[in-house]
Amino acid sequence: MQTREFDLCTATYGTARRHPYDIVLLPWGATEPHNLHLPYLTDCILSHDIAVDAARRAFEEHGVRCMVMPPVTMGSQNPGQRDLCFCIHSRYDTQRAILTDIVASLHHQGFRRLVIVNGHGGNNFKNMLRDLSTTYPDFFIACGEWFKMAPAADYFDQPGDHADEIETSVMMHYHPELVSLNEAGPGEGHGFKIDALRQGKVWMPRNWSYASPADTGIGNPSLSTAEKGRRFAAAVAAGYAGFLCQFAHVEQQQELYE
Ligand SMILES: [Zn+2]
Repeated sequence: MQTREFDLCTATYGTARRHPYDIVLLPWGATEPHNLHLPYLTDCILSHDIAVDAARRAFEEHGVRCMVMPPVTMGSQNPGQRDLCFCIHSRYDTQRAILTDIVASLHHQGFRRLVIVNGHGGNNFKNMLRDLSTTYPDFFIACGEWFKMAPAADYFDQPGDHADEIETSVMMHYHPELVSLNEAGPGEGHGFKIDALRQGKVWMPRNWSYASPADTGIGNPSLSTAEKGRRFAAAVAAGYAGFLCQFAHVEQQQELYE
């Protein structure tokens, strides 16, 4: 199975116009340091690769055809992260403008189902989707973090938060040549001192200068393996494929409800 017909990074117009596509997948990442051993574009690369795997499975197992858009590199950053060289903070209005333009073009072309495959925990699309649902009530747009599609605790010894065993293992599965595990720092994170903040009852952005002062990572990547990454990525892609199969057949709002 050629993945080119599911992946707009390598697809041709000749291929794309030949098939009707049921769903568009939009990987969304960030441009930020990932400890000392993973690429800046980790969140883009992983969300893209997971989306392509999901699209391939959705077609092979369910006959549902998806196109994966090129990943968006503009991510929302915490204070402290933007101080790090080449880390780019994208404002809410910038992200909303990017998404609005993508949605407007796709809607104009007749597409009616879009799924954002988010690879960066700092991104939040919910209010954007609420706004877009009023402008495009016939466009079904959903979002979620790929790493929440399967229970990480079942696959990893020390799942963490950022550049951790999860991201490192999945990158080792897809692109072992991009991982320098021997250069990784311990990814020691510092939580909030105030109980309500630490427990998530009250939220404010973490300042990365204090949350992870040594190597930008939160989560120990030292136990990462490509095999753990392979198993987790397969579970995530299977989860997406099952969802996409159901989502592809929704034509009316009321069909989404029990
Ligand atoms: Zn990441």
